[in-house]
Amino acid sequence: MTEKEQAARQRMVQAQLRGRDITDERVLAAMSVVPRHRFVPDDMRKLAYADGPVRLDKGQTISQPYIVALMAQLLELEGEETVLEIGTGSGYQAAVLSMLAFRVYSVERIPELARPASAKLREMGYDNVEVLERDGSNGLPEHAPYPAIVVTAAAPMLPEPLKEQLAPEGRLVVPVGSQEGQMLERWRKGKGGALSQERIAPVAFVPLMGEHGWKTDHRPFWVR
Ligand code: SAH
Repeated sequence: MTEKEQAARQRMVQAQLRGRDITDERVLAAMSVVPRHRFVPDDMRKLAYADGPVRLDKGQTISQPYIVALMAQLLELEGEETVLEIGTGSGYQAAVLSMLAFRVYSVERIPELARPASAKLREMGYDNVEVLERDGSNGLPEHAPYPAIVVTAAAPMLPEPLKEQLAPEGRLVVPVGSQEGQMLERWRKGKGGALSQERIAPVAFVPLMGEHGWKTDHRPFWVR
């Protein structure tokens, strides 16, 4: 890791996260150490700490650092949780979450993304993360229930299996809306199982494809 990248990362945390509404010190600490530049494609490295999303292969993107931080903060992690992430992509967000929780299961449907992300996370020593290749719109029933679930792709509506796999008192963060734009929502499950919803911010994610997601990608061909 070069000093230049470390400096860029500290500036990112200061300007893009602290400078906005990220106040969870654990989230700030994690994002000041996870080397985001290692997760972006080689030809995009100069954008690794910029204030925006970065394109990955297969028409997918790593979210803007602020959105990664916001989602992590909304999960209210204390360190003992098992987290389910839907949409591994580059593995960056999974690496951040792995520093905030006990265990992370991250599900990715595109093998060409899942495999390198899994290998990279292992090589970099994030050994409490497991990447699974499958349709995450069905959740991951074998390790449920989860006190925290985060969906990093845009769902047409809250996927039913994720509601069921959320633990009592759990938090689920998900962008819900059309393929053009969504509302970032946080759902909480009460002790008795009742769900309540908060609308957090307008966002734009790539679509969640699959059984409980979109059946077709409606985005124009040049972004896919
Ligand atoms: N969190 C990622 C960025 C995710 S981009 C990161 O830090 O890099 C959204 C990802 O969700 C894409 O990789 C896409 O392939 C994946 N995805 C879309 N639908 C999915 C589904 N049903 N199950 C699992 N992954 C899905």
